[in-house]
Amino acid sequence: MKNVLKWPSFVLVLILSVVLSGCSTGEETTNSSGGGENAAAKGTIEQIKERGKLIAGVKYDTKLFGLKDPASGEVEGFDIDIAKALAKQILGDETKVELKEVTSKTRIPMLQNGDIDIIIATMTITDERKEQVDFSDVYFEAGQSLLVKNDSAITGLESLGGVKVLAVKGSTSAQNIREKAPDAEVLEFDNYQDAFTALKAGKGEALTTDNIILIGMQQTDNNYKLVGGNFTSEPYGMAIRKGDSAFVEEVNSLLKSMKDSGEYDTLHEKWLGSKPE
Ligand code: GLU
Repeated sequence: MKNVLKWPSFVLVLILSVVLSGCSTGEETTNSSGGGENAAAKGTIEQIKERGKLIAGVKYDTKLFGLKDPASGEVEGFDIDIAKALAKQILGDETKVELKEVTSKTRIPMLQNGDIDIIIATMTITDERKEQVDFSDVYFEAGQSLLVKNDSAITGLESLGGVKVLAVKGSTSAQNIREKAPDAEVLEFDNYQDAFTALKAGKGEALTTDNIILIGMQQTDNNYKLVGGNFTSEPYGMAIRKGDSAFVEEVNSLLKSMKDSGEYDTLHEKWLGSKPE
């Protein structure tokens, strides 16, 4: 009799453990996909429409692409105008956009967490980043260079042995300079404002990032010059949560229509002083 009673409880334990392991597998799948991917599964475009605004991750410290004017509080630049055009395409109103500050280091986690819908922030398309996010088509071609004082003896990568070079955390520039000038001492800052302030304070003899970001700095202080030409290729793309192909298509269709209508050329001229070559 005892044995007969034990039998069902054994079966019960077996069934329970199968059910529980099934549950925990289910939970792990949900957890590992994270908030970001769940959002992508829902569809970023639907989320933007439901919310009634686009949330774009942009730079606040990069003249020409995304710079916050401390007096007016306005954020302006090439990336900002693209964000507005995207809001107009999706919601019919270019003012329906919230511009959230990202830095080179915070932008991918913020996208993955669902804090922002898209990164439009001087971001280079790389294979390493493609493992974490999807990219739009290229919308701007930059290249890495060096910013030094006008009277500096530094002429390019070949002069960087033993030199303190300033860069920004999470940027391709910080990674590239270590490969291209292994004898330089690289100091990393959280954002471009801090890096430029450090250059002016003499904490390093050169600042390295994309030519177009350096040109923006030089425009605010003509005691500095670009040297060494462009020693990398930095194609900019907008980053979208992985797997949301409908949103990637939406963004690419915006780029295409901006190019076809001439709006892209107008923006290029507005921010960079000339039409694209
Ligand atoms: N385009 C480079 C990058 O994506 C440098 C500019 C930046 O830090 O955003 O890393």
